Amino acid sequence: MPNYLNGKAKSRVIVVGAGIGGLTAAALLARLGYSVLILDQALVPGGCASTFKRKGFTFDVGATQVAGLEPGGIHHRIFTELGIDIPEATTCDPACAVFLPGESEPINVWQNRQKWQEERQRQFPGSEPFWGLLAALFKASWDFQGRDPVLPPRNLWDLWQLASSVRPGTLITVPYTLFTVGDALRAYGLGSDRRLRTFLDLQLKLYSQVSAEETALLYAATALSVSQAPQGLYHLQGSMQVLSDRLVEALERDGGKLLMRHTVEHIKVENGKATAVVIKNQKTGEVWTESADHVVTNVTVQNLVKLLGDKAPGGYKKRVNKLPQASGAFVVYLGVDESAIPPGCPPHLQFLSDINGPIGENNSLFVSVSHTGDGRAPSGQATIIASSFVDPEQWWQTEDYQGLKQKFTEEAVSKLSQYFYLKPETIIYTEAATPRTFAHYTARDRGIVGGIGQRIPTFGPFGFANRTPIKGLWLVGDSTHPGEGTAGVSYSALTVVRQIEAQGLK
Ligand SMILES: Cc1cc2nc3c(=O)[nH]c(=O)nc-3n(C[C@H](O)[C@H](O)[C@H](O)COP(=O)(O)OP(=O)(O)OC[C@H]3O[C@@H](n4cnc5c(N)ncnc54)[C@H](O)[C@@H]3O)c2cc1C
Repeated sequence: MPNYLNGKAKSRVIVVGAGIGGLTAAALLARLGYSVLILDQALVPGGCASTFKRKGFTFDVGATQVAGLEPGGIHHRIFTELGIDIPEATTCDPACAVFLPGESEPINVWQNRQKWQEERQRQFPGSEPFWGLLAALFKASWDFQGRDPVLPPRNLWDLWQLASSVRPGTLITVPYTLFTVGDALRAYGLGSDRRLRTFLDLQLKLYSQVSAEETALLYAATALSVSQAPQGLYHLQGSMQVLSDRLVEALERDGGKLLMRHTVEHIKVENGKATAVVIKNQKTGEVWTESADHVVTNVTVQNLVKLLGDKAPGGYKKRVNKLPQASGAFVVYLGVDESAIPPGCPPHLQFLSDINGPIGENNSLFVSVSHTGDGRAPSGQATIIASSFVDPEQWWQTEDYQGLKQKFTEEAVSKLSQYFYLKPETIIYTEAATPRTFAHYTARDRGIVGGIGQRIPTFGPFGFANRTPIKGLWLVGDSTHPGEGTAGVSYSALTVVRQIEAQGLK
């Protein structure tokens, strides 16, 4: 039985999963002197933010744009803390070009605040009071989040961290805690503005998994504002893999150990405390038990319940089982000749998708396009990645999986052809991923992606905590506050690290 954890260090921590959440937690803990072992069932680290290579193209698997790279942003803070270089990146401006149905001119979500304000005033006359409210809520929420609150709190220390993050300015958010975007639109007399609602649906579903009608207003205020300066969305030079590579570099420098192709099959719990994990080496088939003082799980909350088996607390399991259906993703990866890309094409575009998502109308087709010299395609070529939300169950129940995949691929390419010049002579490579692909490569339950929908009963204060009901067992990743995205899961990792540190100080 291999012994990977060094007994002499501060405390022994096993991290299950090397997604951005798990890697960030592991690297920070190793930096603080913990003995860290991180295990991932996949071939490469990064989970939904990893990459794969085909025929000279490098494709980002899921995440293609990054928030939090600016000074003070969460990735910037963590990379600085770890003493590693901030990855090279370009700002996405516009952050997104959103094409509403039947319109050939996009709504450009500019990074410059003033320019974005002018754009939306032109696009959605009479809506400025609504945007004004969002701006005020964003300012208060952003400052609050920057003070590292613990949400939702589960003990006195958590509560103290939460309370210490509150300032008089935060109080403006309190009356809106139970508001959805739909409520706010109606309050401003914009409830029946179809254009605005379609735009908000398209943009919000990318982050919140649900429509504007259901998205918690406080969550939306941040999701709709992080693309403006001094924040912004960034396109990494090279590929998304650079984030994971840098975190692994820091982890290993500080004595942490990463084992790929190692699956954690079970978490052992004794007397209400997580004590060990059962690991399977996929190459050799060897199975062994590794004990630890803390187990940090970088999995979906649905996977966590499965890993606990009959040790999953009843109430917790019940809550997880009652969660509304989560989304899966269908993604098309195209390697193309550069002539397929119209001149001046922005890095990210959004169209209304014809694919019926699990979340009602206004499903989006979100498109990311590489640019010359960004390291994703050979000279004279480019990558186009288009993703849509889908109902995962459809992909598990179908009797003709390949046929369904083919149908979705054709529909996506046909939709993309309305903007790109996609012909047999310009398409060099095509591949698609479905919920079954995501389940295989990221081990996420039924291939669900993007975390828990940011509805009122599951966002922020009402969501799943990083501190689980089992002592020494922690949850990081997009099932927890503040939700999906590499920036979001980095916050959740930071919270867990602070919670573990605080326990050690007791
Ligand atoms: C199509 C798509 C587009 C997206 N676009 C963006 C975007 O542009 N920007 C953005 O910021 N975010 C985006 N996201 C969301 C973002 O990718 C995720 O929220 C984030 O990467 C999730 O990170 P995580 O750490 O929670 O977990 P994951 O990425 O799910 O990683 C979990 C890791 O754990 C491993 N694992 C799981 N179970 C086990 C086990 N039992 N044993 C061992 N290993 C295990 C998996 O192999 C995986 O590597 C997108 C997601 C998708 C699917």
